[in-house]
Amino acid sequence: MIVPDKTQCTGCHACYAVCPVCCIVMREDAEGFVYPEIEIEKCTKCGLCEKICPALNQGNERRPLHVYAAKNTNETIRAASSSGGIFTLLAETIINEGGVVFGARFNEQWEVIHDYTETIDGLAAFRGSKYVQSRIGDTYTQARDFLVAGRRVLFSGTPCQIAGLKNFLQKDYENLLAVDLVCHGVPSPAVWRKYLTEVVETFTPPRKTKTFNYTNYVP
Ligand SMILES: Cc1cc2nc3c(=O)[nH]c(=O)nc-3n(C[C@H](O)[C@H](O)[C@H](O)COP(=O)(O)OP(=O)(O)OC[C@H]3O[C@@H](n4cnc5c(N)ncnc54)[C@H](O)[C@@H]3O)c2cc1C
Repeated sequence: MIVPDKTQCTGCHACYAVCPVCCIVMREDAEGFVYPEIEIEKCTKCGLCEKICPALNQGNERRPLHVYAAKNTNETIRAASSSGGIFTLLAETIINEGGVVFGARFNEQWEVIHDYTETIDGLAAFRGSKYVQSRIGDTYTQARDFLVAGRRVLFSGTPCQIAGLKNFLQKDYENLLAVDLVCHGVPSPAVWRKYLTEVVETFTPPRKTKTFNYTNYVP
């Protein structure tokens, strides 16, 4: 596989998710951003990772068909959201139709991860911007499984993650609603951890779980 250089690779996880022999691992670099690494001895050179990589397959430029401006009229939800709270309205519609919603949330260690919910209450954890590169983990595969099973799926994330998901899926699904956000880029999880350990712990009691050792992070 040709791994695109770091000025192109966004760490979207598509190659990790698509590899049929699981020879791609996602590891943090010195700056704390997650990038793919190939375990060459396991690689069968099938070429699938190169075929679906959004950085290597940019596609044609597309323009919006329509542009709308809208906001959630529920002031409580809007206050808990980072902008107009439209994410929650879209997500509630999907949940009410029996669907599944994927988004970014904090886990118990205050890391930002992608996860899914099937309940309205579960949406609260996804509301609000987390200015850190989230870990996609196995959520592309989980989303595909729900799509194949005929469930409606809303997958929200950064534009790079949505490009990664769509390339990973390799086909259009009518039951998929992909929602990306206006994004200037993601700060490094290492910087976020530094903030947590150096700043937040100065003001709060120590957390029960403190397992910050991600130099060899594999999702
Ligand atoms: C990394 C990042 C960069 C951004 N850059 C810009 C910018 O340059 N200019 C600008 O105007 N606005 C920027 N935003 C703000 C963003 O566009 C608004 O948060 C979003 O439009 C809020 O919409 P909302 O109120 O409907 O949803 P909210 O409920 O506030 O947002 C929640 C949604 O954001 C997703 N999300 C939150 N954090 C992450 C994350 N780390 N990775 C992936 N998905 C995440 C959740 O899955 C959920 O779908 C950025 C947000 C993020 C997370």
